[in-house]
Amino acid sequence: MAVMTRPLLNRRLAEFGTTIFAEMSALAARTGSINLGQGFPDTDGPEEVREAAVRALRDGRGNQYPPGPGVPELRLAITDHQRERYALEYDPDTEVLVTAGATEAIAASLLALVEPGDEVISLEPYFDSYAACVAMAGGRRVPVLLRPRDGAYHLDLDELRDAVTDRTRLILLNTPHNPTGTVLTRAELAAIAELAVERDLLVVTDEVYEHLVYDGVEHVPLATFPGMRERTVTISSAGKTFSYTGWKVGWVTGTPELVTAVRSAKQFLTYVSAGPFQYAVAEALRLPAAYFDGLRAELRRKRDLLAGGLAEAGFSVYAPAGTYFVTTDIRPLGETDGFAFCRALPERCGVVAIPNAVFYDHREAGAPFVRFAFCKRESVLADAVTRLKSLAG
Ligand code: PMP
Repeated sequence: MAVMTRPLLNRRLAEFGTTIFAEMSALAARTGSINLGQGFPDTDGPEEVREAAVRALRDGRGNQYPPGPGVPELRLAITDHQRERYALEYDPDTEVLVTAGATEAIAASLLALVEPGDEVISLEPYFDSYAACVAMAGGRRVPVLLRPRDGAYHLDLDELRDAVTDRTRLILLNTPHNPTGTVLTRAELAAIAELAVERDLLVVTDEVYEHLVYDGVEHVPLATFPGMRERTVTISSAGKTFSYTGWKVGWVTGTPELVTAVRSAKQFLTYVSAGPFQYAVAEALRLPAAYFDGLRAELRRKRDLLAGGLAEAGFSVYAPAGTYFVTTDIRPLGETDGFAFCRALPERCGVVAIPNAVFYDHREAGAPFVRFAFCKRESVLADAVTRLKSLAG
């Protein structure tokens, strides 16, 4: 038998091991810990949405390959959602693409739009799939740090501007931002838009947490700014908004040219997915405002419960304006290495969290930060807080 001398995993993916979420969720299961690592709710979303999926399954809607761009009912619901919430007009036939979660939308966008050698700017810390997808596309990632200051993370617009070169193809944006909970302001977005227009850049904007904003903070889609509709691929997903992360229904909106480009890659990744769930998400997007307000109110209570508890347990807390994550600094606990801290945490007190360093190229900048998810039942969060308080003792 021939001996394989080449590494099996190709050079593009060699630096990416198992995602931290898989590793930490396995650790939680193995140790029986409370899993505040991976961002998935521990209760399901609205019953009527689940029933809509059951109905679609029973009625034989979506049990065979749905149309490549997505079922018409969902495409229409997405364009209605963009118009009613943000006054963004999209044509459901040519300007929407349904994907296997936002994850596939991100992958397909980068595979479609990035040439080998192109630079892709993203905010750092970044959601881990960004780095892998830029690598799979043969691009070069150029992270721009969000810097912690006064209890929140801030983008330095000069640093962003300086990061643009002649090789920059696109900015991969994320607001509300995972893991920091930052929601970019209107002024910041306007500056990013100006830069994109001036330097003729595309923007892929991941807005999966668009509905999870608190304390009157507003989420503004980048595509609403002057000159941006024609250069922005907007991505969202049903997972976060409706608490069905396992259904993997995501979508892309943009001009026909952009959507066609993204579809060129998407069609060879999954072709189509989640047939019956697409019908259910079409109904979910039409839930009354009370649903979205209720979700926000509930998550805000949970945020306050966990953030308050973490502060009492001795962490320094960056209370998020959006998402369902809270980033903490572990240095007040006498710790400096988030990786070591998270690996030991299940043993020490039966809680699992995520070291933010995995979201950084500049690992030293992320080293002392740890992320906790608060999309869990209040009793679970209260239990976690009790356990975390034992750390100080
Ligand atoms: N983008 C961000 C910023 C996320 O946090 C997540 C999920 N954790 C995704 C994309 C993936 O979304 P989906 O489950 O719809 O693929």
